[in-house]
Amino acid sequence: MSTTYEGVACSGGLATAPAWSPRASVVTTVAVDASPASVPAAFEAAAVRLLALASSYRRNGATASADILETEAFIARDPTFAAEVVSDLTAAPGLDPAAAVLQVAQRHATVMEGLAADGLRERAADIREVGRRVVDELTGRARPVPPDGHVILVDEEVCAPDLLEFADRLAGAVSLRGGASSHAAIVARSLGLPLVSQVDAALLSTRDGVLLEVDGDAGRVVVGPAPALSVVGGTSAAALALARSLPATTADGVDVALLANIASPLEARRALDAGASGVGLLRTELLFLDGDTWPTTEQHEAQLRPILEVLTGHPVVIRLLDFSNDKVPAFVQPLLTAWGTAPVLLAAPEALDAQLRAILAAGRGHDVRVLVPMVTQPEELALVRARLTELAGGHRVPPVGAMIESPDAVDNLAALLPVADFLSIGTNDLTATTLAFERSDPRLGPALAARAEVMTQVELVLREASAYGTPVSVCGDAAADAAVLPLLLEAGVTTVSVAPSRLDAVRALVREQSVRTAGARHG
Ligand code: PEP
Ligand code: MG
Repeated sequence: MSTTYEGVACSGGLATAPAWSPRASVVTTVAVDASPASVPAAFEAAAVRLLALASSYRRNGATASADILETEAFIARDPTFAAEVVSDLTAAPGLDPAAAVLQVAQRHATVMEGLAADGLRERAADIREVGRRVVDELTGRARPVPPDGHVILVDEEVCAPDLLEFADRLAGAVSLRGGASSHAAIVARSLGLPLVSQVDAALLSTRDGVLLEVDGDAGRVVVGPAPALSVVGGTSAAALALARSLPATTADGVDVALLANIASPLEARRALDAGASGVGLLRTELLFLDGDTWPTTEQHEAQLRPILEVLTGHPVVIRLLDFSNDKVPAFVQPLLTAWGTAPVLLAAPEALDAQLRAILAAGRGHDVRVLVPMVTQPEELALVRARLTELAGGHRVPPVGAMIESPDAVDNLAALLPVADFLSIGTNDLTATTLAFERSDPRLGPALAARAEVMTQVELVLREASAYGTPVSVCGDAAADAAVLPLLLEAGVTTVSVAPSRLDAVRALVREQSVRTAGARHG
């Protein structure tokens, strides 16, 4: 029996992994010197730890995450915070210093929560997190560490430092508190970890080790998901991982290329660990959703270099900034309204050049390809290719491909094929636009791509691209859906790009299918 919880979608992607709650872990107390005199030193120690974590992220080019950690360190170093705790303790001598810290933190957080501006309300979480960190320092309590292997962090208030500290042990996170503009959400998006918040408190009683599925796009958490891709045919996730050395070949001998959808170096490593042969979709916009200007060439490079370093020797499809639907920073909104249709980046020539320059510079020595989102017109691809050619100054120009993710793009296919080096079908948007759903609609799921209105378009794209000799991959989440993947394979798909956490299950499902009877293959 599975139970579904609806919440707020804070960071996209799908992950299935065992639950892990720090609240359930054994807390070890090393030394207790929680006297009022030790309070200022505990604040300073918390700040130092946060700054050390910040500098490791800054070194890796993750400036937004480093900024967030430094903001929390700044809060910990605010002398009035510690002074207020000492003053409370002086006024009430019996008061436990740890309780006093949490009380002062909550007092300030409550003030923040009462403010009108969203941004300031979200900062309440940072203040509470600093309070908890100071208590750890004060009491010598070791912070619980997630076990080896990937888990879903479940906590009352998941905070940015939790995600950053344990990034390589997490598959996703679920929080009772927080929203889509919280620091935790910003960090989760930059790490490529699905995060759902504002779920019912009952979820906290889930025992550690119970399988959870976190759908960060739909804002949904399933406890004990039905055996689908996470557990194909009763095979455990561990057994699927063991099968990584087996080829992704159907039972009747059709080879399927498995690529990954990623947004961070962490996901890149996970993708390779799980046997991806490359990256079919590198989402570049997630890091910049909270910015207030277009990213500079330097910012783009800082994002790309650590990712490409992990992926050396593997093909990487870099998608240009896709500010659309629920991924539109405030500063882009007026332009989008005036421009009417995406891809909005093409309406900002300097911003386009900034990203293309970074791709050319960071991509030197790597097998990079450029993917244009939300394409409907051949001129859009031609513009990107022309700018790349000029900016490359005689050096190699990467292949330029189109995302096919709207009925308009499918209608214009004959005009797009002559100017596209490759196509990537985005079933997430194609399904939403075809069936007239908002991307944030909780009823919209990858399984809906199985509907005839969507599948006939996919089949048409495969047929026409095959006749033209243009390679096609499918990078929407439907490619990792147990009900849709067999249909895609039968329609002739031979390249799929899926979340790293789905690679093992997708390989297992591919190996179960027989598809040769379905006719021509398109790769
Ligand atoms: C899609 O639309 O299918 C897709 C892969 O892109 P995104 O989910 O980032 O819009
Ligand atoms: Mg899309």
